[in-house]
Amino acid sequence: MAVLGNPQNTIEVLNKYKFVVQKKFGQNFLIDTHVLDKIILAADITKDDFVLEIGPGIGTLTQYLCENAREVVAVEIDRMLIPILEDTLSAYDNVTVLNNDILKLDLNALVQERNNGKPIKVVANLPYYITTPIIMDLLERHLPLINITVMVQKEVADRMQASPGTKEYGALSLAVQYYAKPYIAANVPPNCFMPRPTVGSAVISLTLHTDSPILVLDEKLLFKMIRASFNQRRKTLVNGLNNFADLSFTKEEIQQALVSLGISENIRGEALSLGQFAALSNVLHGIKKKIQPSL
Ligand code: SAM
Repeated sequence: MAVLGNPQNTIEVLNKYKFVVQKKFGQNFLIDTHVLDKIILAADITKDDFVLEIGPGIGTLTQYLCENAREVVAVEIDRMLIPILEDTLSAYDNVTVLNNDILKLDLNALVQERNNGKPIKVVANLPYYITTPIIMDLLERHLPLINITVMVQKEVADRMQASPGTKEYGALSLAVQYYAKPYIAANVPPNCFMPRPTVGSAVISLTLHTDSPILVLDEKLLFKMIRASFNQRRKTLVNGLNNFADLSFTKEEIQQALVSLGISENIRGEALSLGQFAALSNVLHGIKKKIQPSL
């Protein structure tokens, strides 16, 4: 089977199988070898690595992963692609294709069974319609991960990497940076895909923290506060937290907590760093405990 990653061989494979590209699955196949090389480099793939690929499509990136990694498991939702993958990956004995929805798969069990529970790398040219759910799912499950290297919409990559005070900064920036260090490795124009997406793309690598850089006493409270702060972006942090149905702190309690940390009472959530959000959540956690000692 021919090496993929260029327009000619991609068209040949699609024609051979009379494959009709499914928009609903976010299918945009890579046709640029430079971009594929950049993904392998950004993920730092070596022959020691076990790689989980999400959405192999016709197997373009998968071929590159098989060449460079020890073992690859590729999870593809579209069953029409399975016979194509059998063909395009026939030269490799270090790959397993699973026909499944990545969001429904027990990934902890997969890592346990296939890699003895040791940390893995995740690589993907993600379907853009479910980028955020997939990334948050990978992070929140606390899987043994070394890094996640993915092609995403450029705007989403910018949001993941954003710093406080910028317009891109929000709940996604804080959630991603709580778990990992993001790094945008490449910007990728629409003409590197077939069919062309309507938006620009970027390769972003998230290196998981081995030791969390911040201390958080109550993760659930931290994430509720983050959601509350960016739900009503134009409001002050005090009003945002006070108005959020799922939190029960009075304005005075929130103001006191901010003052105790030397933060202005009039600050907006968008100006707070992850470390400041964590510190505030720890002070409010203390207040919650005093009121409801059983919690
Ligand atoms: N990796 C290929 C490439 O780079 O050319 C294809 C990437 S394409 C942007 C996204 C792929 O993800 C498609 O093959 C699509 O069918 C698959 N996909 C979409 N939703 C999925 C899901 N929930 N679970 C697994 N795969 C999914």
